[in-house]
Amino acid sequence: MNGFDGVVSSRRGFLGLAGGSAALLALGSAPVQAARVKTAARIIILGAGAAGTALANRLVDRLEGAEITLLDARKQHLYQPGFTLIAAGLKPAGYSVSATKDWLPQGVTLIEEAAAEIDPVARTVTSTGGTVLAYDFLVVATGLTLDYDSIPGMSLDLIGSNGIGSVYAGPDYAAKTWEAMDTFTSEGGVGLFSRPATEMKCAGAPLKYTFITDDYAVRKGTRDKVEIKYFAHNKAFFSVPIVSEKVRMLFGERDIQTAFEHVLIALDPGKRIATFQTPEGTREEGYDFINVIPPMRAPDVVRASGLSWADKWTDQGWIEVDKGTLRHARFPEVFGLGDICGVPKGKTAASVKWMVPVVEDHLVAQIEGREGTQIYNGYTSCPLITRIGKAMLVEFDYNDNLTPSFPGVIAPLEELWISWLMKEIALKPTYNAMLRGLA
Ligand SMILES: Cc1cc2nc3c(=O)[nH]c(=O)nc-3n(C[C@H](O)[C@H](O)[C@H](O)COP(=O)(O)OP(=O)(O)OC[C@H]3O[C@@H](n4cnc5c(N)ncnc54)[C@H](O)[C@@H]3O)c2cc1C
Repeated sequence: MNGFDGVVSSRRGFLGLAGGSAALLALGSAPVQAARVKTAARIIILGAGAAGTALANRLVDRLEGAEITLLDARKQHLYQPGFTLIAAGLKPAGYSVSATKDWLPQGVTLIEEAAAEIDPVARTVTSTGGTVLAYDFLVVATGLTLDYDSIPGMSLDLIGSNGIGSVYAGPDYAAKTWEAMDTFTSEGGVGLFSRPATEMKCAGAPLKYTFITDDYAVRKGTRDKVEIKYFAHNKAFFSVPIVSEKVRMLFGERDIQTAFEHVLIALDPGKRIATFQTPEGTREEGYDFINVIPPMRAPDVVRASGLSWADKWTDQGWIEVDKGTLRHARFPEVFGLGDICGVPKGKTAASVKWMVPVVEDHLVAQIEGREGTQIYNGYTSCPLITRIGKAMLVEFDYNDNLTPSFPGVIAPLEELWISWLMKEIALKPTYNAMLRGLA
């Protein structure tokens, strides 16, 4: 036995982050802007990714006279949902890359340095260049760190060789992953797929790539030469039970072998052996192709700041925010936004779309001396690709309730072409609209 056994109106108009056409409609009928609030508040946003950029654009529209400073050393903005399509050979690496500064409005000062230190007691941020910046409000939107170093034997320069792929590492690495997967599905062998035991962004992505690889082998007529094994880190394939069950059924139908409670802990690239931690001890698996998805954690600067939860996710360092308001539990002038938040769900761009207006609301309300009203309900969405041309558009909230944007039109647990279009065509313009603060 080897362990293998085989804001409601805009909400409807936006369809999470997956419904581009609906989003475009929403753009055409943007709500009437409230009068701008006059303030001299100093607002620092850390991170010009999906969350930081979207918030900066919205705050410029809401506030007059505020000093808004955005810190990010990365000059490129990366549209990360595109990585899966690049690694599927459907888009070039450049599909996901644009210039950070091109998304920023006038009225925001971009400092092209990372935050090296955050002192929430003194209310200062020190940049890597040594500049000390004081703030009245701080929004931490640094995203997360991919901890490849914690997997002995793995390093980024291996991606694309020795059968090693990694969809998450960046657009060029996703393109190299495609080359490795293309070779694997042509030549055959054993393919290993898994996810880390930490929280992770887009928890559907490991499943999507497993399905896509299977589909390529079927299309190439090599499926009988290809063994596909998916290792879940716990006892489920997805955090929402009904989705997990659907994935189990699809894996079974497609002869994808599975094992629970297996976590990748080491690689031997020369011998092509992956080591997994299991409840029974370690287990080695040979491979011809592996999609490595590393543990994910808060960046060191956040973990050292005292803003992380002290009693939850202690090995990961997500920041201690209220799950409804995204305000820090101990420092009311600090907010978390995006992947960095220590909340039960929501590490997707779709979540960012629903988080941004909440932080905007509470921050502006605080400036005005009133209470904010908006609450983030944990909404997240995942266009779960099940084959090229088919996906399930899964949307859910903190309570694992499915929250379809078009009930009766797009069934969340059906493999549909329209759901595929959401990911392949509509998601990027929708994401871009969000960055501009328009959706
Ligand atoms: C392979 C893959 C597939 C995905 N698919 C989907 C999908 O289909 N649908 C979906 O909704 N989401 C998807 N996502 C998730 C989505 O991309 C993220 O959830 C989203 O980008 C989070 O936004 P963020 O602003 O929190 O982080 P990011 O967009 O990662 O931005 C964080 C920014 O902070 C900066 N930063 C880091 N450290 C510092 C520092 N010390 N100081 C200043 N700046 C710093 C970084 O340089 C970066 O620019 C996918 C992600 C991946 C990797």
